[in-house]
Order: sequence, then structure tokens, then C-alpha cells
Amino acid sequence: MESKSLEYINKEKEVVSPNYTPIPAVLSKGEGIYVWDVDGKKYIDCLSAYSAVNQGHGHPTIKEAAINQINTLTLTSRAFFNDQLGSFIERLCEYTGMEMACPMNTGAEAVETGIKVARKWGYEQKKVEVNKAEIIVCHDNFHGRTTTIVGFSSDPDTYSNFGPYPAGFVQIPYGDLEALKNAITPNTVGFLIELVQGEAGVIVPPEGFIEAAYKECKENNVLFIADEVQTGFARTGRDFCYQHFDIKPDLLLVGKALGGGIMPISATLGSKEIMSVLTSGTHGSTFGGNPLACAIGKAAIDVLVNEGLANKSNELGKYFKEKLMTLPQEIIKEVRGIGLLLAIEFNEKGGLAKKYVMAMKEKGLLAKQTHDTTIRFAPPLVITKEQIDESFIIIQSAVEEVMKTL
Ligand SMILES: *Cc1c(COP(=O)(O)O)cnc(C)c1O
Repeated sequence: MESKSLEYINKEKEVVSPNYTPIPAVLSKGEGIYVWDVDGKKYIDCLSAYSAVNQGHGHPTIKEAAINQINTLTLTSRAFFNDQLGSFIERLCEYTGMEMACPMNTGAEAVETGIKVARKWGYEQKKVEVNKAEIIVCHDNFHGRTTTIVGFSSDPDTYSNFGPYPAGFVQIPYGDLEALKNAITPNTVGFLIELVQGEAGVIVPPEGFIEAAYKECKENNVLFIADEVQTGFARTGRDFCYQHFDIKPDLLLVGKALGGGIMPISATLGSKEIMSVLTSGTHGSTFGGNPLACAIGKAAIDVLVNEGLANKSNELGKYFKEKLMTLPQEIIKEVRGIGLLLAIEFNEKGGLAKKYVMAMKEKGLLAKQTHDTTIRFAPPLVITKEQIDESFIIIQSAVEEVMKTL
């Protein structure tokens, strides 16, 4: 490795808590689908900051909106009104198909807000006995890192030694309709689900499950809560992943790409009736709904719509997936995904994903393994067909190189 990169890596290791194991690329510049490291090496970004950079690095429209707003007004708190929030949420509601939203910052906060809304709705509207509300979640879920959220994770790395864990969450296997039916009680207020499980390794639900689960929720007066923090904003080939199915979530949780790759912006959305349980003083955020975030959020949505990125993600996703399917069968267990949220899982012969990730890095493409044997490919949606070809050539040659060592 070049000496400049090593210096930065050593500095981070000295002073930054070791809760990540980054791929050793020290990035200092980005544009579109490309990023550059401090030694000037150029990479294709195939992670997009876990789908927070769907519009590409430094998108000129979003950058301009941000700079204009920085020059005008950035933070007011919600002790006052501001001239950006109403039009931002109106735009977000129109784009998501929802009626009302609570603006927050990170994805985890959108999830926490969803949990609070579901519980409060349960006590006040569904008339569940106080402190008895239950929310059903799925095995291998990823909804963020707060103590409440990690308390209902099934991954020991995620939850161990962060207890005691809050009560009121029930886990079922992902995609298991019978388990969902059995888990619903009169105290169930919500079913919280990722429509495609991102961090679990791009797990697509079994055919028909989402629609059936939705129907089950409707029949039992249970809120269907879709965590689209990762699958939203055109990532899966629709504006929102829920649009692949014949459903409309009661609560929609969004984040990541809403921030246009610039800052954390999230929201919890739903009907007026449900969102109105958040009465004055019952919830809040100092930074949530700040004018800078609102201006950026509006521009982030505009770019997705004006550049037709959902259709692009749909078409190029199919193209990219077909290419990935041509990788040597003998080392691959499965190629899966939807839109430009794709993954390859290696089989026993293929072994650990990390070595492929490192070979791709050397050849100029950044991706990250999720769990031990899966690599996710989720480039910025502004990628072109030619750039997918360019990416695939790197992926293919990295795979071939590693295969020689197996
Ligand atoms: C990333 C993610 C979150 C958490 O978002 P943060 O901004 O990291 O708090 C929640 N849910 C899903 C599905 C995610 O992918």
C-alpha cells in the first residue's frame, strides 16, 4: 500500500473506536460513481455508502441546493417554523405516497420514531393495555444501532453486551407467513420489516409473502411498518420497494439517500390519522427538519425523479444481474437482488468474500462483504450501462485471480 494511505489508516486506528473494519482505501474525493483515495487511485463505488449516495457523489443539483441554503439559513430548531420544512415534507409525501411525516436525521431515528408511533397508536387507537404492546420483527433484521433496536436483533455481534433489552418485540423467521400468523396477538401493534433485507445480504422475500403478510396485518389491525431506509429512493427499481407489491405500508421509514449523499436526513411517514398521535411535546429532534436538510432533501428527490433513476435502476439492475450470473458457477451459491441492490454469495469452494473484495479494490472497484460469504453490489444509480460493463470487467478479473489461489 502507498505510504500516504497508511499514515491515515494508522491515525484512525489510534484514535477512532474500532467498531468498523474498513477496506483499506482512504478516500478523499468523489464525483458521480467514482471516488479517489489520498494516493490518487480511482475507484468505482459499488457500495454507495450503503445506498445513501444513490444520486452519485457530489451531484451538482444537490450541491447547489445545499450551498444556497448554507448561505441563507441552516438551523432553527423546531421551536420555530421555517420556510423550507412544509414544502419539503409535502414533496416527500407526494413522492412516497404518504400523507404526513415526522422529520428526523438518521435511519435509526426513523425506526425509533416508527416504534414510538406504532406503540402510541396501539394504546390510543387500538386500545391495547398500557405497556403490553408488541411489535413483530424478522430474524436477521437490520434496523439500526440504538439500544432498543439492537435489542431485537438476532445477530450476536449486534446485540451482545448491550442489554438489558426492552420488552415488546417478537421475532419470526423472515418470509414465514405461518409464523407471522401465530405471532399476532391482540396486543400486536406493528409488523416491522425490510422489504428486501439489506444488511442480511440482500435477501429477497419469498414470492407472495409481502402481500400475504400485509393482508394478515390488515385483518388484525396491525400496522405494516416498512423499513425502506436502504430499499427506498429508487434503489430496487421502483421509487420505493413497496411499489413492487400490491400494498401500501401504514408506516414508511426512510433515510439514507434522502440526504443526497450530503447529510443525514430521515423521516417516518404515514397517514394523517396515525402520524397525529405524535402530539406536541411527545417527540422531537434538535436537528430534525432543519432548513439545510429540507433543501437538500427536496433536491435529492428532484434528482431521482428528473433523471428517471428508478427506471434506470430497474433496467440496469437486470443487466448487471445477468452479467453477475455469468461468473464461474463452481464458486457461487447464488446471485440475487432486485434493481441495483444486488449480491453474490460464494459457496464453500468460493470461500470468504473478503479476498474477492480486496482483489476488486486493487483493480479499482470498491464493494463490501456482508457477513462472511456475500458481496453486495449497489453502485450509485447514475451509473451508465458502459460503466456497468467497466465494473463487471473488474469483478470478473478479480474473481478469476482469486480462483487461481483456491
Ligand atoms: C442503514 C439502515 C438503518 C439505519 O440507518 P442509520 O442512518 O445508519 O441509522 C435502518 N434500517 C435499514 C434497513 C438500514 O439499511
